[in-house]
Amino acid sequence: MTKYLIFTGGVVSSVGKGVTAAATGLLLKERGLRVTAQKLDPYINVDPGTMSPYQHGEVFVLDDGAETDLDLGHYERFIDIRLTRLSNFTSGQVYAEIIQKERRGDFLGGTIQVIPHITNEIKRRIRLLARESGAEVVIVEVGGTVGDIESQPFLEALRQFRNEVGRENIFFVHVTWLPYIGATGELKTKPTQHSVTALRSIGISPNMIIARSDYPIEDRIREKIALFCDVEKQAVIPMVTTDVLYEVPLLLETHGVGDYLVKRLGLNAPQKPDWGAWRELVRRVRQPKPILPIALVGKYVELHDAYMSVREALKHAALANDVEIKILWVHSAELEKGKGWDQIEQAHGILVPGGFGSRGIEGKIMAARYAREHRVPYLGLCLGMQLMCIEFARHVLGWEEAHSTEFERSTPYPIIDLMLEQRSITDLGGTMRLGLYPCVIQPGTKAAACYQASQVEERHRHRFEFNNTYRTAFEQAGMVFSGLSPDGKLVEIAEIVDHPFMLGSQFHPEFLSRPMHPHPLFMGFVGAAKEHAGI
Ligand code: GLN
Repeated sequence: MTKYLIFTGGVVSSVGKGVTAAATGLLLKERGLRVTAQKLDPYINVDPGTMSPYQHGEVFVLDDGAETDLDLGHYERFIDIRLTRLSNFTSGQVYAEIIQKERRGDFLGGTIQVIPHITNEIKRRIRLLARESGAEVVIVEVGGTVGDIESQPFLEALRQFRNEVGRENIFFVHVTWLPYIGATGELKTKPTQHSVTALRSIGISPNMIIARSDYPIEDRIREKIALFCDVEKQAVIPMVTTDVLYEVPLLLETHGVGDYLVKRLGLNAPQKPDWGAWRELVRRVRQPKPILPIALVGKYVELHDAYMSVREALKHAALANDVEIKILWVHSAELEKGKGWDQIEQAHGILVPGGFGSRGIEGKIMAARYAREHRVPYLGLCLGMQLMCIEFARHVLGWEEAHSTEFERSTPYPIIDLMLEQRSITDLGGTMRLGLYPCVIQPGTKAAACYQASQVEERHRHRFEFNNTYRTAFEQAGMVFSGLSPDGKLVEIAEIVDHPFMLGSQFHPEFLSRPMHPHPLFMGFVGAAKEHAGI
C-alpha cells in the first residue's frame, strides 16, 4: 500500500515548503524507503516553461524534457533521485485535459464541473505517479498558500483522496510562518491558527505543523500551537531559519520527524538513517574557507531564484574545492553602460548562464571577451556557450557582425542558428530541444579532464545551436569542440584551447549537480578559478 505525505503551506508563501518537503523525503530515503515527490501547481499555465523567471524563478528541466517548477530541483538534490514529468502538474494541465475530453464528447453531454471532473483528474495524476514510480511513499506538495482560490480544487481532491486511500495511508503536514513582533519580542501563533482553521473548513485537519521562524521557538509556543490546532505536541516541529540549506534534514531529524512519520504511517523502515555524510557536509559548509569571488553575469540577477540550480551547483563544487564562493551578481545590461565592471575585475571566474531574449546580450558578450583576453576562467551555460562562440567569431576571427539569428536575423555570420527541426515550429510552449541527450567527449580536452568519461548524458533546453558551417574556421583559430552529439552533428561543448579554462556547454549541467556529487564541469571551473585566485 502506497503512503502519501501531503505538504500544504500556510500564512505566507516562500516559507521553504519545497525544501522542507524535499528534506522530509530524504529522512525516509535514509530509512531505506523508496520515495518519490510531486508538486501540484495551482496556476493556469500548462507548465512554467513559458513563464518569466521574474515571476516564477528558474525552470527546472528533467531527464524526459519536462519543464518544471524549481521545487523539483530541491527534490532531486536532497533525495538524490531523478524525476519524470509525472512529478509536476498544473491546474492548466488538468483543465486542458478535461476540456479536450469534453470536446471529444467523452462525457456524453454531462455538465463538466470542478467536482468531480477536475478533482478526479487531480487524483488520477497522483495515483499515476504512485503506480509508475513504484514508490512506497509519495510526497505531494501543494503549491500556493491555503486560502488561495486557485489551490482549492487541489485541497478538495486531497480531501476526497484521503477517504479513498484510507486515513492510515495519508498524512498532512502544514508548513506555516510565525511572525515576530519586535516591540514585545514575541512570536505569534495566531496566523497559524487561522490558517489551520481555513484548512479545516475544506475538511482537512493537519497531522503535523512545521512552524517556520527566524527566531528561536520556545516550548510554550509549541504547546500553544498543539492545543489550538489540535495536533500532538511532538508533531509541532519548530524550524528556525538556518544559514545552511542542507542542514534542514538534520534539523527535522533532531525533532523526531522521521520516526514520527514512520510510526504514524505504519511504514516498515528497513534501515536506520546514517547522517554521517550529511553532518560532514554541513560541518564543511560552516568551516571558514577562503573566499572565491565569481561573477554571475545574467539578466534576472535581482531575483536569485531565477538561477537556483546554478547557484547550488556552484556551492556543491565550492565545497568539494574547499572554498567559499561569493557570487557577484552582475546585470549584463549594466556592463553595456560601463557599469558593474569593478565586479568583473574582482572576480576569479565569470559565469554566463542560460537565457532568452536580446536584452543584455551585448553585455554578456563583453564579459566573455574580458574573460578570454584576461585569461579569467569562464563557464558558459547554454546561451553562455553561444555567446562565447559569437565573441570568438567577432574578436578572434574578426567577423564583427557575427551573431545568433535569435537576436539578429540578417547577420552575415549566423554563428548560432535555429536547429533544422525548430524552423517550422510556431508554438512557444514545450517545443525546444528538451531533456537528456548523449554527448561524446573528445579525448585530450578540458571537458575530458573534467568528466573522466568518453560519453555523458546531460539535460538540454534550447532552440538554437552552433552552426556547423563555421566549425573548421573556429577550430583553426583555436577553439575545440570537445563535446559532440554521437552522430557528430551537434556541438555540445566548446572550449578555447589556449586559455586556463574557457568552456561552454549547450546543455545545462547545473540540473544534475548534487551536494554529494558536484558536477564535473562546475568542478573544473571552480578549480580553475581557485588557481586564478592563487588559493
Ligand atoms: N536562447 C537560447 C536558445 O534557445 C539559449 C537557451 C538557454 O540558454 N536555455 O538556444
